[in-house]
Amino acid sequence: MILLASNENPLGMPASAQQAVAAALQGAGNYPDANGTALKRALAARLDVPAAWLTLGSGSSEILDLAAQVCVQPGQVVVYSQYGFIVYGQATAHAHARAVVVPARDDFGHDLDAMLAAITDDTRLVFVANPNNPTGNFIEAPRLLAFLEQVPAGVTVLLDEAYTEYLAPAQRYSSMDWVHRFANLVVARTFSKAYGLAGLRIGYGVAQAALTAKLNARRPRFNVTTPAQAAAIAALADSDYLARTYAMNTAGRSQLEAGLRGMGWRVLPSAGNFVLAHFGDAAAVHAALLAQGIEVSRLDPYGLPEWLRISVGLPEQNAHLLAVLRDVPAAARTR
Ligand code: PMP
Repeated sequence: MILLASNENPLGMPASAQQAVAAALQGAGNYPDANGTALKRALAARLDVPAAWLTLGSGSSEILDLAAQVCVQPGQVVVYSQYGFIVYGQATAHAHARAVVVPARDDFGHDLDAMLAAITDDTRLVFVANPNNPTGNFIEAPRLLAFLEQVPAGVTVLLDEAYTEYLAPAQRYSSMDWVHRFANLVVARTFSKAYGLAGLRIGYGVAQAALTAKLNARRPRFNVTTPAQAAAIAALADSDYLARTYAMNTAGRSQLEAGLRGMGWRVLPSAGNFVLAHFGDAAAVHAALLAQGIEVSRLDPYGLPEWLRISVGLPEQNAHLLAVLRDVPAAARTR
């Protein structure tokens, strides 16, 4: 199977992290370091924030969940965008909160003005993804900053940066500066994507000390395993792997966009490690790909039944996918 359905890193787990895990297994008869001391030290140095501003999660999904648990009482409101990452709705439900889902812009991106307007006295949390999954939309830093400046202090913003490592140099911004500025901001990041550790389940949140203390108090004590902590330390230091990941993704995303557009399919511009493409009869195209051993993601749960999300693979995987698509029966081409 060629797995292009879950936005994983097609390079596989970094060799450096594999070695670190092998060594860490020697100590896995003991509980993990509940405070993740060594990893937090490495992250704090990298991000230039105090270790007391860091919360480790079993994937960044757990950070999203913790934010809802900590910030929102049952019946209070969480605001997020239509086509926002699926876990926002799940985290809202886990907190027994009410979701206010704000219609997306015509380009499928978050409508930040409408999201601001949707905030009421009952609102406690707003999820913003940059870039967003599954649409790939990117919000330029000035627009995002203007948004943060207008969110009331009593409303927490969870800025989900799961794909931030894939941003082009011209798109990059320092959300850490914003964490210094806004006491109501949590930035969530993950080791699942660009760092190639999805199966180990590790991510983190960055927020000022008071909010971090609340997130940590709610966190299950041993939520991040010893091998996961060791792997994350190794991956964080592996700048070569990250550089290869970035270069491969940028080229592969262009390869997919050009190939798909060349066949006449509509593809949204993406800032992540995946593309969203419109196939009309997406179910038929999905089935045709599966029959050839290629798995991509259907988006019916997002209300996008005519679209497929295709993760960027290795160059030869992308080429193979495009070749298979070229042979998709005309009957499936109902655009
Ligand atoms: N945020 C977004 C936007 C994502 O796409 C994902 C993974 N699909 C995550 C967060 C969470 O990833 P993980 O829990 O593996 O860190």
